[in-house]
Amino acid sequence: MLVIMSGRRNLPTLTIATLPKYGGHRCLDFVNTVEGADEAEPSEYFVIPDDLRIWARRADIALDPPLGEALEADALERAWSLRQIIYSILCAMVERRSCSAAETALLTAALERSAGSRRLVPVPGGIAWKRTRRDLNSLIDMLVVEAVAFLVEAPKLPLRRCVGSHCGWFFLDYSRNKSRRWCSMSYCGNRAKARRFRRRKRPASEALDD
Ligand SMILES: [Zn+2]
Repeated sequence: MLVIMSGRRNLPTLTIATLPKYGGHRCLDFVNTVEGADEAEPSEYFVIPDDLRIWARRADIALDPPLGEALEADALERAWSLRQIIYSILCAMVERRSCSAAETALLTAALERSAGSRRLVPVPGGIAWKRTRRDLNSLIDMLVVEAVAFLVEAPKLPLRRCVGSHCGWFFLDYSRNKSRRWCSMSYCGNRAKARRFRRRKRPASEALDD
């Protein structure tokens, strides 16, 4: 069993069962299941297929029991791929640049593959998607649909990326003056404050080593 080391050294080690959800949207919480994604040693929280199941349970998404190891492993591979595509597109958005045609092509292909586990049904006042399967792959199918809907709307939303060390999580900034820099003050914000405090307390000769 792989032990996940959290980069947040002053805090208890996180697991997929305790990972905070600061994104403000399920698509962002899905992407925020890796810390320091563009660093040399990211912290990965989807390590085995069961991690996906724990994440789904915390998101109130019902799933049936596993159908077999190969299908479970396929779903985990798909989760990693989908998360990487969304991550790349979100990076482009917060950096105010266009994502690549290859990335939108990958997302289009993921959307096409996801079509088999849902159908449209009438609901009072409109129509809605209904899941026709509840296996682990159907979770990825559902996340693809949600991700596409979110990403199409995202340019109109206050999308930000945490500036914290070993974080980089995405979130929607609904603060009054839209100046939030951290995924959470209690996580990255306080750690940065503590670092600044320690630096001020240190003799000048040591501070030069920073
Ligand atoms: Zn953060």
